[in-house]
Amino acid sequence: MPENSLEHPLKTLIRKEILSLEGYRSEAIKANIKLDANECPYSPSITLNLRSLKLNRYPDPEAKDLKKLLSRMWDTGPENILQGNGSDELIYYLISVTGGPVLYPVPTFSMYGIIGRILGKGIIEIPLDQNFDIPDNFINVIRKQKPGIIFLSSPNNPTGNMFSEEKIVDVIKKSHCIVVVDEAYQPYARNNNGFIPYTKKYKNLLVMRTFSKIGLAGIRLGFLIGDSRILNEINKARLPYNVNLLTQNIALEVLRKRSFFNNLIKRVISEREWLMKELQSINQITVYPSDANFILFKIRNAGRIYKGLIKKDILIKNLSNVIPDCLRVTVGRKEENRAFIKALKGLVSK
Ligand code: PMP
Repeated sequence: MPENSLEHPLKTLIRKEILSLEGYRSEAIKANIKLDANECPYSPSITLNLRSLKLNRYPDPEAKDLKKLLSRMWDTGPENILQGNGSDELIYYLISVTGGPVLYPVPTFSMYGIIGRILGKGIIEIPLDQNFDIPDNFINVIRKQKPGIIFLSSPNNPTGNMFSEEKIVDVIKKSHCIVVVDEAYQPYARNNNGFIPYTKKYKNLLVMRTFSKIGLAGIRLGFLIGDSRILNEINKARLPYNVNLLTQNIALEVLRKRSFFNNLIKRVISEREWLMKELQSINQITVYPSDANFILFKIRNAGRIYKGLIKKDILIKNLSNVIPDCLRVTVGRKEENRAFIKALKGLVSK
């Protein structure tokens, strides 16, 4: 390759699907009040004795202690759980071991599509119906297009609603591929136990959970729950020590004190309901129902409002390129939510 060539050799070195891909974007904008990434505003306080950890040794490749604890929580067997470095990594494994194309309703979490493209599997995006639920033509598209895997985020990011239970069951029953119900936000759902109990009945169903939305985004930990034989196959694609020693130990420590999760979930839900009422009280805003730790709302001049909030040191998510005029706010601490509503009311009245 000529060293002084004016043209950069990227095109010859990298697949064209990657060159044309826009990777995952997380906001680089700094703000004191950060309500953009669906994180939990509370962090557990734990004392981890680093000296007692054998940092020179690899971590337990199977994360056995963690799985044992979680299997009791989720009323399943340790063999029905597979660990990931966040659920993002599990999405990667899932798409790498199944055939294409990758099918999901939109708008939804962007990584299904990004990883589908990276792995060259092809993607099929089906628009949600007007209630942001699984549309009536979904089963027909599955029958015609025969996807290799289906992702359903319920509660869905960024719309905040859950898909109807009957529709999800129908998709599972009528698909001949793995159906992943991504329950990243399930802990915040009202009156719902989620789909883990269904995994005993339907072999092609895998449920995905993460610790990222309940106070532990920094340690990167996610899980798949489902049929042990299917998980064994996915496990072949897993990198040997994907969940590191610190992550395993921190998660064990926090899980032993279950009250941390219960308390934070109660607080976030109560703040969500407060935020919901406040947003509904603002005339020019349409608020969508939420079973998650964030709220989607429609507002005139969404771009101006978004930028105005940044000027006031408040960062939320601008979704107007995905859903016209829509912004998404993550539920924060009490004082953060109050500051957000105050700033928003100020901007709307201008
Ligand atoms: N699934 C959904 C629906 C999400 O919104 C997110 C994060 N925004 C993830 C998965 C990724 O979670 P993790 O941090 O466990 O990779």
